[in-house]
Amino acid sequence: MSSGPERKEFEAAGKMKEVMGSYFRELAEGPKQGRKTAWCTSVGPAELLQALGFNVYFPENHGAMLGATRMAGDLIPLANARGFSPDICSYLTSDVGSYLKGESPLQKMKMAGPPKADVLVFNTNQCRDVKDWFQWYAREWHVPCLGIHTPRSIGEVAPSIVDDVARQTEALVEPLEGVAGRKLDPGKLEEVVDLSKQCTELWKAVLQTAANVPSPVTFFDGTTLMGPAVVLRGRQEAVDYYRVLLDELKRRVAAGVAAVEGERFRVYWEGMPIWGKLRPLAEQFLALGTCVVASTYCNSWIFEDLDPADPFRSMARAYSSIFICRSEDRKQQYIEEMVQTYQIDGILYHDSKTCPNNSNSRYGMPQRLEQKLKKPFVIVHGDLNDLRLYSEEQTRTNIEAFIEQLAER
Ligand code: SF4
Repeated sequence: MSSGPERKEFEAAGKMKEVMGSYFRELAEGPKQGRKTAWCTSVGPAELLQALGFNVYFPENHGAMLGATRMAGDLIPLANARGFSPDICSYLTSDVGSYLKGESPLQKMKMAGPPKADVLVFNTNQCRDVKDWFQWYAREWHVPCLGIHTPRSIGEVAPSIVDDVARQTEALVEPLEGVAGRKLDPGKLEEVVDLSKQCTELWKAVLQTAANVPSPVTFFDGTTLMGPAVVLRGRQEAVDYYRVLLDELKRRVAAGVAAVEGERFRVYWEGMPIWGKLRPLAEQFLALGTCVVASTYCNSWIFEDLDPADPFRSMARAYSSIFICRSEDRKQQYIEEMVQTYQIDGILYHDSKTCPNNSNSRYGMPQRLEQKLKKPFVIVHGDLNDLRLYSEEQTRTNIEAFIEQLAER
């Protein structure tokens, strides 16, 4: 047990567990009540699927659970034996391994495991791995796999890109209606996009409370608090939960409550979380009086361009504007803005071995930003789920040295 300062729990965490619990119950019960299940990538067209009445399931959320529960280590080799390289996305390999072994953290929630898909819907805005992942299940279950191919390394989100992605999204409607057994109600889609927009705005406001000094919330809190923004966007429950959470954060700010008591330094986390090590990392930063106040990862579920008055084009714009599919220059500019907004003292880059798509320390970004902003950085080599690729001892030492460097300045 840690004898250092304690992490401060959120009252709203109770509501979050309630909301997530009923989401998973719904996933389990839906098929028994004749509802169809659609698998969706985390930044896929969730609003369209919600509007068509699907149970919407996000396997990346399951991947994160496999990482956080440290089940991934035993499961990844099973997918490797089926031909998935140990070098590709460890969400994919953990999830496929979980399926092959029939073991899942969802079983602790009295679910048999992830719900079987009636259709799988991807968007390659984040990476190609999601398409390969979904196609594997499509072949396994003989169900359709549909998707949107978004360009990558986008600088300006030009109208031609928006047109193309909107057309691809509209083209999904007919086959999805066939699976859902119902027609898309345009009014319902507007309603869902509106709820998704409200969720996004509230989630953004939650994250922005971290711009206060001291910050009332850390990145490590955010990785859990974000659950409903990922799996329940487009639903009233998510909006209600974020209102409660935002209210609590505003009270923390008004009372000067610090997430990290005696906050000395403020750090930006670039890249994926290391799911199996969130707790020890949170505790180390807490003990060092350092708050990891902001991250690219938690910000990735802010979709500001959503507009209920123009659902397809606004979804296309929103899902083509996310950090992960932008050009190196645009990413650099984004991080610079974050450093200013959150009064960052230094940047931690997680070079996640099996996710090159969300690792931004490989092409000189840390060095360029250090030169420009005069802010130190540290690169942590690890992985989102595969802890064989992570050295805890080495990382602890590197983080300590990084904080010493901040202290010397
Ligand atoms: S972005 Fe990275 S972690 Fe996410 S699915 Fe793609 S490869 Fe996996």
